[in-house]
Amino acid sequence: MTAMIHIDTLTKSYGATRAVKGISFDVGKGQVVGFLGPNGAGKSTTMKVLTGYLEPTSGTVTIKGIDVVKDAVEARRHIGYLPENNPMYEEMMVEDYLDYVGRMRGLDSVGGRARAIAVAVERCGLGDKRGKDIGELSKGYRQRVGLAQAILHDPDILILDEPTTGLDPNQVIEIRNLIKTLGAEKTIIMSTHILPEVQHTCSRAIIIADGQLKADGPPSTLSSDASILDITVRSRAAASSETVASMLRLLPGLSDITSKPASEAGALSFTLTSKADADLREPLFDAAVKNHLVVLSMSRHAVSLEETFRKLTTTDAVSSSSTSAV
Ligand code: ADP
Repeated sequence: MTAMIHIDTLTKSYGATRAVKGISFDVGKGQVVGFLGPNGAGKSTTMKVLTGYLEPTSGTVTIKGIDVVKDAVEARRHIGYLPENNPMYEEMMVEDYLDYVGRMRGLDSVGGRARAIAVAVERCGLGDKRGKDIGELSKGYRQRVGLAQAILHDPDILILDEPTTGLDPNQVIEIRNLIKTLGAEKTIIMSTHILPEVQHTCSRAIIIADGQLKADGPPSTLSSDASILDITVRSRAAASSETVASMLRLLPGLSDITSKPASEAGALSFTLTSKADADLREPLFDAAVKNHLVVLSMSRHAVSLEETFRKLTTTDAVSSSSTSAV
């Protein structure tokens, strides 16, 4: 079956800046995908290429099999787009704005446009705001207007760029719920740098950083493929942090060790990472006895999506894990 969205080795440079460096992925019908990454990762750029607003430097992007460069107009018919910061005409009434967008979208018949506006207004909970100027609306309602214009021509695919940025906590919940409702019928890619957004709204998370794809999977699996053991020990032999770390590095199943500031004087604290199915606790006790370490505290937990994200997207964390900065 043709993917709703197919991205193959996409690159995009702005002059000397390589914003997207060879990203490939497919999105199937009905998926709600969280496109995650820190600021500057290349999310907006990728989305602008998807929506035909920017041409790729190389690679191909197709929407339901339609090439977004070769057949941009046709591809765009299948896409609703909510750009970052949702620029709108503040002095326009909600309904006039949607009418204007409808005309731009080629909904030529007055009756057809009125029906499309009625559906979009209803679905986005804008019933009593139709006659209000956009400038009078709260940010949450403006975002609803943004979503209404995105679904006006009843596209199969929605591309939402940071849809909840700048909203207050109540508005965030409302917009997330609205996106979730829309996701029952539409294929959605939404970018965000906020992790709970993805856990709440999306069935799949794609993490990018520095223009490259770093992880792709259901939010639950991204968060549970490793386990963390936080420990604090005291060395009876007054061994240094480096020495203790080199002892602990021999633990079977250990994939990473980092030191952290100890909570009490004379103690040493470490974060040990292992695969989720490896349990370091028993080997740790054996190693502690052998190496004259007193275990003062120990706590084990799954790696959260937050930690996975940090690890995959920060240069510091990546280098500390590969060099085991202790
Ligand atoms: P994100 O949406 O993940 O924050 P962007 O796609 O906006 O990331 O940006 C990716 C990189 O491309 C950044 O380094 C950014 O500075 C750069 N960039 C984005 N837009 C432009 C532009 N119009 N001109 C030059 N550089 C840009």
